[in-house]
Amino acid sequence: MMKLMLAPNLVTGQHWINVLAAAGVQCEMHNRYLNGALGDIPADQCAPELWLADERDEILARRLIDAARQGPAADAPAWRCGQCGESLEAQFTVCWQCGTPRDPLDG
Ligand SMILES: [Zn+2]
Repeated sequence: MMKLMLAPNLVTGQHWINVLAAAGVQCEMHNRYLNGALGDIPADQCAPELWLADERDEILARRLIDAARQGPAADAPAWRCGQCGESLEAQFTVCWQCGTPRDPLDG
C-alpha cells in the first residue's frame, strides 16, 4: 500500500476510488477523523486519504484522478468514448471500458 493523495472530502474521495476501480486500479480511502467534530484539526489532517494497493499503479492513478477532477457538470450530457466508442453516462470522466479520459472538447 502507498498513500496516493488527499481528497477534499469523502464524496470526492469515493468518486475518485470509483474512477480508479473502473480502470482496474485498487484503491482504499482512509480517514483518521471520520465525520467527527473536526474542531481544531487542520484541514489537511482530516481530509480522506487515498491509498493505492499497488504503488506501480501510481502514474495511472494520478492521471485518472486529474481527469476526474475536471469532471463534468451535474447536467452534462452522456458522451461516447473516442477510443473504443463506448457510450458513457455524464458522471464518468474516464471510459470504464478502456480507461481513456473523456475528451473535454467532446459532447
Ligand atoms: Zn473507451
